[in-house]
Amino acid sequence: MSYTPLDEMPKIRDSLRATFRKGVPRPLAWRRHQLLQLARMMQENSDAFVEALAADLGRPKLESLVAEVCVVIDRAMICAEKLDEWTKPEKVEVPDWQKSWSPTIHKGSKGTVLIISPWNFPLILTFQPLYGAISAGCCAVIKLSEVSANFGALLAKLLPKYLDQSAYRVVLGAVPEITKLLELQWDHIFYTGNGRVARIIAAAAARHLTPITLELGGKSPVIVDGTFDIDLAAKRILWGKSNNAGQMCVSPDYVLVLRELQDKFVAALKAAHDIFYPEGPLNSTSFSRVVSEAHFKRLNGLLSRTKGEIVFGGKTNEKFWFEPTIVKDVADGDSLLEEEIFGPILPVVPVDSVHDAIEFINARDDPLVLYAFTEDLQAKQAIIENTTSGNLVFNDTVQQLSVKELPFGGVGESGYGRQILKYSYEIFTYERSCVDIPKSAEPSLSVRYPPYTQEKVDA
Ligand code: NAD
Repeated sequence: MSYTPLDEMPKIRDSLRATFRKGVPRPLAWRRHQLLQLARMMQENSDAFVEALAADLGRPKLESLVAEVCVVIDRAMICAEKLDEWTKPEKVEVPDWQKSWSPTIHKGSKGTVLIISPWNFPLILTFQPLYGAISAGCCAVIKLSEVSANFGALLAKLLPKYLDQSAYRVVLGAVPEITKLLELQWDHIFYTGNGRVARIIAAAAARHLTPITLELGGKSPVIVDGTFDIDLAAKRILWGKSNNAGQMCVSPDYVLVLRELQDKFVAALKAAHDIFYPEGPLNSTSFSRVVSEAHFKRLNGLLSRTKGEIVFGGKTNEKFWFEPTIVKDVADGDSLLEEEIFGPILPVVPVDSVHDAIEFINARDDPLVLYAFTEDLQAKQAIIENTTSGNLVFNDTVQQLSVKELPFGGVGESGYGRQILKYSYEIFTYERSCVDIPKSAEPSLSVRYPPYTQEKVDA
């Protein structure tokens, strides 16, 4: 599939702006239809989407259905149902003398927006902002990652068959294409990806004063203090780390475990591993591969430089499959603690107390998620009160994403802005304050007019 020609970008943006100005996306019935068409596209082509994700990531069917396809169908349909409620103008409480002014907040559509998505969960990370943009009555250009090329080619073919092409367009390409898009003015930019590129996006957006949402990643830590069933903790952590081969923004990145529990915990990880992959992960149909040679080499590089002890895993093959790999006795300064791992390697760092674990976390960038396996109420409270993270999850990993009523997003280096359902809708709307001051309000306003007599000052 060829990339979108560079000289097409301004034309695409301009045609979408014209659609927005004509008011095409304004009627709720139109928005509802586009949302239901989005769900229909998923439903009618679920096999093709699953196959594209398998070609890009070696992803098992179950994971693609549960984490991406079904979620988008469900959420697009909820948006269609909730449109009336979300878009309703809101009245505000005011003092008596302003009541006749009908102070109201209208939900304005921002306009024509740019959505830039990554390769690791290309489907949900494209459609989650898109259903927000549709619900908000915006037009959108979707720039897909060049790394998940099969998904990109499929969506470029399918989207025009289901959604109104005058309002929603897919752009395929890499750095030159996105650079061209970023020269243009947008009414919002929604970027999901890494912090390095986020800085490029933010700088480009600043030139036009464009508001942005940054959904980024980082190193999400896990604290294990032994008060929660350690076998179950290990099982839940290993699942989070091996799902999509650890290529998830919310993957548990490293574990801080009480020193005396380290060996028991690592043994529990091994037991869970052997149950998950009895035939070995490289022969398993329940495991994904690393997305590209570049990421494969990066992971091998991190592992080759660790000073920790590899307890199990570490085997790879020439097609970029990489076993879940547990490394214990990892200490501050290790290669595995330098950058987001974004792969199936789990460093285990022994610490002396929950307090030390909190200090360790606070000495680093604010994570997207902080996980803690504990049933100790004091430890929970200390973690809530003394740390900063986009999400806080006790006693499981990744599963928080299924709570669709909670906002999702980062803080500090893990980004800013909140998404999922209503929060996705709100990203693409603005609150437009409106008053309508009747003639009858004149007596209460007359004090403002010159001349400013002493009588008025005294009143
Ligand atoms: P990626 O390489 O696919 O990049 C994302 C987008 O940025 C793509 O569309 C790509 O074309 C574009 N891009 C790449 N280089 C660019 C450049 N130099 N200039 C402008 N645009 C460029 O994906 P990635 O960044 O490798 O994704 C992985 C990262 O994303 C991880 O850090 C992960 O934690 C994070 N992530 C965050 C979330 C979240 O919701 N918070 C979800 C998934 C991934």
